[in-house]
Amino acid sequence: MKLNNVITIDGPVASGKTTVGKKLAEMLDLQFLDTGVMYRAVALAVVEAGIDPHNEERVSEKAENIQIEIFSPSQDDGRQYDVFVDGKDATWKLREDVVRDNVSLVSTYQRVRRALTQKQREIGERGKIVMVGRDIGTVVLPDAAYKFFLVASVEERARRRYLEDKASGKKVDLADIQHSLEERDKVDSSRKLAPLKPAEDAVVISTDHKTVDEVVEEILSFIKE
Ligand code: C5P
Repeated sequence: MKLNNVITIDGPVASGKTTVGKKLAEMLDLQFLDTGVMYRAVALAVVEAGIDPHNEERVSEKAENIQIEIFSPSQDDGRQYDVFVDGKDATWKLREDVVRDNVSLVSTYQRVRRALTQKQREIGERGKIVMVGRDIGTVVLPDAAYKFFLVASVEERARRRYLEDKASGKKVDLADIQHSLEERDKVDSSRKLAPLKPAEDAVVISTDHKTVDEVVEEILSFIKE
C-alpha cells in the first residue's frame, strides 16, 4: 500500500536535500526528518567513546544502544534543529570534521544500518513527513507516494558547503571541502548495502543554478500532478 502523505528526498552531499526538504515540510505542514543526523550521531558517539571506527562490532553495539532525539531549535544560533545524543546537546558537534570524516565508514555497517533504518521506518510509517537521506526512497520507505532525487555538479555542491561552513564561523578550505565531499559520495554510492542511488520511481531534479524556492516549486508541481 502506498504511503500517501510521505515524501522522500535522497541525493549526494550538499545537493540541497535538507534545505529544500525542510521548506517543503513547512509549506505542506508535514514533519521533517534529516536521517543524515542519525548516522552522524553514531559517528560522534563512536569517536567520543574512543572506539576505532574500523571496529565494526563495537561501532554496531554503539548504534544499537544509542539514543537520538531531534527537537525544534531551542536557540537562534543558525541551527535547523536540536539534536540530543544520549541526553546531551550535540547539534554543532555533528558538523565537526571528525564526524564528517568517519560517518560514511560507519554507515556501511549492516547492524548500524539495520538499527537506524528500523527507527526511520517507525517514524515514516506514521505518515505526514518529508524524510531526507541517501536510501529513503529505495530502502527505508519504498512505498512512499512521492520520491525525489536531487543532483548538482560537484563544484556547485562544494561551493554551497563552503559558504555554509564559512557562515557558521568554521575555518574552511574549498579544495578540502570538495575532496571530502567526493570521497563521501564515493563510499556512499559504492557500498553494498543501501547505496546512494535514485529509486526507479523517483523524479530526478538538478538543483544547479536554481534557488531553493525554484526547486521547491518544481517538487510541488510534480506532487500536484
Ligand atoms: O546528509 P549528511 O551529509 O548529513 O549524511 C552524512 C552521512 O550519513 C552520509 O555521507 C552517509 O554516509 C550517511 N547516510 C546514509 N544514509 C542516509 C543518510 C545518511 O548512509 N539515509
